[in-house]
Amino acid sequence: MSNAKPWIANYPPETAPSLEYPRVPLTFFLEQSAAEYPDSYAIYFMGKRITYRELLQMSYQFAHGLIRRGVKKGDRVAIMLPNTPQAVVSYYGALFAGAIVVMTNPLYTERELIHQLNDSGAETIITLDLLYKRVSSVKASTPLKRVIVTSVGDFLPFVKKMLYPLVQKKQGHNPQIPYGSEVEPFLSIIKESATTPVKTEIDPEADIALLQYTGGTTGVAKGVMLTHGNLIANAIQCQAVLYKLKKGKERILGALPLFHVYGMTTVMNKGISIAAEIILVPKYEVKQIFEMIDKRKPTLFPGAPTMYIALINHPDLKNHDLSSIEACVSGSAPLPLEVQSKFEELTHGKLVEGYGLTEASPVTHSNPIWDKRISGSIGLPWPDTDCRIVDTATGEALPQGEIGELAVKGPQVMKGYWNRPEETAAILQDGWLLTGDMGYMDEEGYFYIVDRKKDMIIAGGFNIYPREVEEVLFEHPMIQEAAVIGVPDPYRGETVKAFIVFKKGQQASEDEIEKHCRERLAAYKIPRQYEFRSDLPKTMVGKVLRRQLQDEDKKRREAK
Ligand code: AMP
Repeated sequence: MSNAKPWIANYPPETAPSLEYPRVPLTFFLEQSAAEYPDSYAIYFMGKRITYRELLQMSYQFAHGLIRRGVKKGDRVAIMLPNTPQAVVSYYGALFAGAIVVMTNPLYTERELIHQLNDSGAETIITLDLLYKRVSSVKASTPLKRVIVTSVGDFLPFVKKMLYPLVQKKQGHNPQIPYGSEVEPFLSIIKESATTPVKTEIDPEADIALLQYTGGTTGVAKGVMLTHGNLIANAIQCQAVLYKLKKGKERILGALPLFHVYGMTTVMNKGISIAAEIILVPKYEVKQIFEMIDKRKPTLFPGAPTMYIALINHPDLKNHDLSSIEACVSGSAPLPLEVQSKFEELTHGKLVEGYGLTEASPVTHSNPIWDKRISGSIGLPWPDTDCRIVDTATGEALPQGEIGELAVKGPQVMKGYWNRPEETAAILQDGWLLTGDMGYMDEEGYFYIVDRKKDMIIAGGFNIYPREVEEVLFEHPMIQEAAVIGVPDPYRGETVKAFIVFKKGQQASEDEIEKHCRERLAAYKIPRQYEFRSDLPKTMVGKVLRRQLQDEDKKRREAK
């Protein structure tokens, strides 16, 4: 079954059924927006504003600096920075130089960092002085040759004055690192270089723009090769789907981390493609999000469910006006229905669920914002994205309505995993990407994810999808967050265990929760074990780390 692109019926007729994808490098959007809106703000960062003209010029300067230091086309350049203007400049600078960007999570441990740098072969890294200690301790175990260091104070001297004494007090050492022969200051590279355009020959179909590491929550991290063409395609698809957005007029809240594929593409690539002002939120914290909403009145707020959950449950919510927000696409994890409706009430805007994965640059589905949307569904496939639901055992396409593994094919699907042909062949066949997510399609062409293939619980021969149970737990008025895993059971093979975080000042007993579940779920799906906690382990984009919960639980069982 190849779905007949049902999105066409739901989008305005003028949207072409198949889109045109310009054969250009990813940097094209920045050059185009800077040409059309040179004086519009590209970035707002803690009071500092950078125009499109300035952003383009700094990116050229940084590219010249990299090239002068020996960075060649195809070289990997690692960027280990929080959401700052330097992250955006480094990203576009490296791309202009023809390099392949490797985004690095600033929270990586030394072990994870060593793995990523060795696997990608990155010889250059751009990082923050506050993170330098970690980079310097791993350097000898990696191919790193060049370390470029920036400081928050490079753009905001007053923050440095305030922040550094605090860091010194807390960490016991001066965060200001001594620049030696092996460490180069970011700002001098910019200042010494010309603002003239940098032209590198790029074949958008073949040349890789990004090695985006994934699998950290499920196994050893692999580098996903995303070409310039993949990323251009996903931005063009996004423009077609969000057809009401106005170029040069939107303000996008950049609270998602730029080092994660979702934040990077939604906030940065797609934001820049519509010449939006990117309001960078340096720390993934509700207080900072509120502050930026108050100050810059964003119109767009891409996020992850946990972000919206934290916002609507925050005691300060009543002191902030969220009504500027018009459109939000929630991705990365299932969006609970309760959260969607409460958030929409508060903002008078729309919050819809979308879906994607790193291997698809990343978005493949979303609910139409201004047309028919269905709560609980990931929506319709994006333009030119074909979908199949396949039987996990036989690989055969299943009829509409049946649950199987979602497979997708389209211009945004990755080239493969870096240096891992076997892993690539296992999930990418004839252009079809096996997503590892179980789902189905309804008669109108809307898709639903029931869960990850790996997370399915089998209890007494029945398949249980944690998401369904979590959705019910979320409906309980006292529960703020919930996660469900399978734990061994002598009779049923596996049974359901729920981890629950209550809303502030609220609590319910196991019996009360069980009663709530019994009214809404078949008996075999009801959690038999409960653990009440103050929080749940999560990734930086708010995905609950079920694997960590499983590991913790296993350790505790073994210790007994
Ligand atoms: P990543 O590659 O880190 O972006 O993770 C991709 C995975 O996130 C997908 O394979 C899904 O398991 C999960 N995911 C993303 N969006 C959703 C969604 N709307 N509902 C459920 N799972 C999602």
